[in-house]
Amino acid sequence: MTMQSIQKDMRSRTQKKSDVAVDARPRTTLSFYQYVQIADPIGFKNKLSLAWSPLGCLGRIYVADEGINAQISIPVEHWEQFDTWVQTQPELQGVSYKFAVTEGTVPSFFKLMIKVKDKIVADGLDDESFIVTNTGDYLTAREMNEYVHDSEAVVVDMRNNYETEVGHFAGALRPDVVTFRDELQKMPELLRVHKNKKIALYCTGGIRCEKASAWLKHNGFSDVRHLEGGIIDYAHQVREQNIENMFLGKNFVFDERLSEQVGSEVIATCHLCKKTKADTHYHCQNQICNNLFIGCDACVERKKGYCAFACQSVDFLPPAYKKRLAKYFNFYVRKRRPFVKTRIRV
Ligand SMILES: [Zn+2]
Ligand SMILES: [Zn+2]
Repeated sequence: MTMQSIQKDMRSRTQKKSDVAVDARPRTTLSFYQYVQIADPIGFKNKLSLAWSPLGCLGRIYVADEGINAQISIPVEHWEQFDTWVQTQPELQGVSYKFAVTEGTVPSFFKLMIKVKDKIVADGLDDESFIVTNTGDYLTAREMNEYVHDSEAVVVDMRNNYETEVGHFAGALRPDVVTFRDELQKMPELLRVHKNKKIALYCTGGIRCEKASAWLKHNGFSDVRHLEGGIIDYAHQVREQNIENMFLGKNFVFDERLSEQVGSEVIATCHLCKKTKADTHYHCQNQICNNLFIGCDACVERKKGYCAFACQSVDFLPPAYKKRLAKYFNFYVRKRRPFVKTRIRV
C-alpha cells in the first residue's frame, strides 16, 4: 500500500462521514467565544440552530449559562448574513472572530452540533469560589514576543500535552496534562517558584486563559497576562505586522484539520518508531481504537494508517466480532496506551 492510497483510504473514511452532509461550497473556518450571561441556554441553542442551519453552517458549539464557545465553518457566500445576524444578537454583539490560519484539504466539520453544557470549557472550577471576571490584561503578539525574550518572565502553555507536543512558544512552561481541569489544579503549585515574576499565559484561541488568568490571580499571582486571541490571532498578527514568529511548529486545532502550520520547524517525534521527526496527527483507521497519534510517513505507510499492527488485524474481522472486541479493547487495551486520546475536547 502506498502513502497515496493510505491517504486516499483515509479520505474515503472521511468521505463516509461527509456523506451525511455533502456540501462542497467554499468555506471559512473560525472560532469565537463570549463569556456572557445566557438566561435560557436551551432557548438560545434553538435560536442558534434555527439561524445557522439554513446558512449551511457546520461546527461544534457549546452553550452554557456563562456564555458560548463556537468552532464553526461557514459557506463563504453566507458570511455576510452570518456576521450580521451574530452582531445583532444582544448576547453576541462585539464578539471577536478567530479566523483559521489555514483552511485544510479536508472539511473542518461534517455537521452542526450545538450542545448545552454546564460550562463552555470544562475547567472543573467552582466559579462561586473566586472572581471569574478578574481576568489578566491582554497581550498583543508583539508584547508576547517580549515576554518570550525576557528571562524575568514566565510563559505558560495552558493547553494539553498532545497539543503542546506539535507546537509551542520557545521556552514555554508546558505542564504534562491531558485536560484543562488538571492543568488548573497543578498550575498554582508549579508556578509557586515564579510567584514574583511576570506571567504570560496562552492557549489556542484565548478562551482557556480567560478563566486561567482569573484563577491564578485568585491564587496570589499578581502579574498575570494572557495572549489575546491565542495562537490563532498571534499567527495572524505575525503575518500582518511582519514581526518575528516565536511560536515553533504547529497549532493543534479541534476540528478535522487537527493543526495549522505556524512555525516551519517540526518539533515532535513519530509515536510509532519514536525516531523520525514528525508532526502530523492521524486517527487510527480502526474505528474501535480511533487513537490520535503522530506518525512519520514511513510508519504510517508501513502500518497502513493504523496505530499498531494489532489494530490492523482487528479491522479485518467480521463486524459481529469487532463489536464484541470493542468492549474488551476499551477496557483492557486503551488504558495502557501511552498516547490515549480518542475524542478530542478542549
Ligand atoms: Zn515513524
Ligand atoms: Zn489503533
